[in-house]
Amino acid sequence: MSRSLRLVPALAALLALTGTACDGGVRGTPGGSGVRDPYFPKAGNGGYDVGHYDLTLDYAPATRRLTGTAVITARATRDLSAFDLDLTGLRVDSVTVEGKDARWNRAGQELTVRPRDDLSKGETFRATVRYSGTPRTLTDPDGSEEGWLPTSDGALALGEPVGSMAWFPGNHHPSDKATYDISVTVPKGLQAVSNGELTEQSTKGGRTAYHWHTGQPMASYVATVAIGHYDIAHGTGPHGLPVVTAVDPAQARASGKVLAKIPEILDWEETNFGPYPFSSAGAIVDRPGDAGYALETQTRPVFPADQLDTSILVHELAHQWYGDSVTPKSWRDMWLNEGFATYAEWLYQEDHGGPTAQETFTRLYDGDREEIWAFPPAKQSDAAHISGSPVYERGAMVLQKIRQKVGDDTFYDIVQGWAADHRHSTVSTADFTAYVEKKAPDKDFGGIWKDWLYGDGKPDHP
Ligand SMILES: [Zn+2]
Repeated sequence: MSRSLRLVPALAALLALTGTACDGGVRGTPGGSGVRDPYFPKAGNGGYDVGHYDLTLDYAPATRRLTGTAVITARATRDLSAFDLDLTGLRVDSVTVEGKDARWNRAGQELTVRPRDDLSKGETFRATVRYSGTPRTLTDPDGSEEGWLPTSDGALALGEPVGSMAWFPGNHHPSDKATYDISVTVPKGLQAVSNGELTEQSTKGGRTAYHWHTGQPMASYVATVAIGHYDIAHGTGPHGLPVVTAVDPAQARASGKVLAKIPEILDWEETNFGPYPFSSAGAIVDRPGDAGYALETQTRPVFPADQLDTSILVHELAHQWYGDSVTPKSWRDMWLNEGFATYAEWLYQEDHGGPTAQETFTRLYDGDREEIWAFPPAKQSDAAHISGSPVYERGAMVLQKIRQKVGDDTFYDIVQGWAADHRHSTVSTADFTAYVEKKAPDKDFGGIWKDWLYGDGKPDHP
């Protein structure tokens, strides 16, 4: 290892003379196997920050075999002798750091990499992992399936909260966002759809490679790949925004009418939430059962055809602002995603001849759905409940309470300012409450935070 090399003064001097970027004095320590997420302590890793993922994938649906190369460009946030990546299943074939073979070992979801030379704080480094095998479908603590989901004609990758570690090694926690290039090669005749923009497509020897580029930061849980037969349509949204939809041909008739509303919904959301945060938009619609739920995968949310309606489209598109652009720092902060996206549905109904958000609030408060009060939105009971009803509906109720308190003008100023000021970054619940208090300094929000956000049980007053 590099340490013994440093013990040879003559050689070290020679390297210094030749200008080799040898970290002469660096004595790093291991980066650590998690970032202390309250519900997923092994998710993410310490000691570095990823700037870019370059993923080159090859998938054969017939054998379900994936071959991948992940080139991860990251910056050390402290002196490192080793760092971890999250990867579950698959076989690691080789790991290099800065082009040099690195030692590595695996334990559970942790792939620990020991570079030949220690990395110094602030240093940007490139780690390349070659891997292969049959990617896994993971079952979450709440029983839902994520990771790599084989479908009748291909596969679908869904990653909330930790499923992306089933198809590429990375820093799989929402607190570390990065840009992406995702290239997927599949048998000719199939499509591979991912986030961002298609920059290249080429067919050679019976196989087609699709190269997708995501230029704005993305959390790995909203990265996706959808492989199969799709009808691809190109349209435009507000200000000429490219809108790319990929629909399973059998679902085209049923979903066409709803998907046609994307430009109009984006326009309405821009009016309410501010400028759309990404350089493209769209949707992926798969067969019922390919995925059990819709997910706000960045720029291109995924919908099972039987769940696609206007409301859920409004919800997943609103997530592009709240969740994808303004991303939770930990899974405890998830109500900042779901409360906002649910509130977007209420607002859309209010603006389109349905009940007002206040009426929806009152109906829920007076209703008999006890699960809404099971735990506070900003403090879920455990990992199995990170996306339970309180996170969605009671989270939206928190927003309605704020609107009651400050009135419409300040309320819209808050939701737009929140999206603008934290665009492409990560946030906590404490960041949000401080933001609201700053925007309305003459109001007292103590009761809302105590009873609605953090309090156990149903608040005494609506
Ligand atoms: Zn949602």
